[in-house]
Amino acid sequence: MMKTVTEPVVSYPVMEHFYTLQGEGCYSGQAAYFIRLGGCDVGCVWCDVKESWDASAHPLMSTETMVELAGAHPGKIVVVTGGEPSMYDLVPITTILKSAGLRSHIETSGSSPLTGDWDWVTLSPKKFKAPLPGNLPLADELKVIVFNKSDFKWGEEFAAQVKPGCKLYLQPEWDKREAMTPLIIEYIQRHPQWQLSLQTHKYLNIP
Ligand code: SF4
Repeated sequence: MMKTVTEPVVSYPVMEHFYTLQGEGCYSGQAAYFIRLGGCDVGCVWCDVKESWDASAHPLMSTETMVELAGAHPGKIVVVTGGEPSMYDLVPITTILKSAGLRSHIETSGSSPLTGDWDWVTLSPKKFKAPLPGNLPLADELKVIVFNKSDFKWGEEFAAQVKPGCKLYLQPEWDKREAMTPLIIEYIQRHPQWQLSLQTHKYLNIP
């Protein structure tokens, strides 16, 4: 298991970074610069970025370079994802993004204590390493990946722990989408506090 980094750092292992459209959740369809940090200690069996898990396989990038690259585009949203970004001290990232006038968004399973002052927190709990209870009230959107029928009940456990106004999304796991999407639609019709999230970037074949 990878050790959680607790010391402040100004460089992070970055697997990839690219300008695209956010494909999922509340900001779906909006231009965003994605920075995918390397390193993950969660280990989802259906993970589609397993090459991100080993942090040492990815070159370090400074926060200054991140801002330079992201700031070169007109879109103002920067999405920090992984891997599992909560493993790191993220205060330096949110500090520099804010000072550059960029919006800081994060996608995390919440498996380690979440640091940094984020404009938008997407918390997507994973069964393989549950989110820390203290992270759930930080979520602006809760995104539950539906892999099988039991995930509806499992997702409700976390929905009960988020703050009022937190958006609730159910998203089919990509390889199970044909079987799970109809069940999600039916579930949302019965529980309209939830919304459907689709991985639109995969349907569109964009990053
Ligand atoms: Fe993959 Fe994300 Fe799960 Fe880590 S938390 S194993 S990166 S899906």
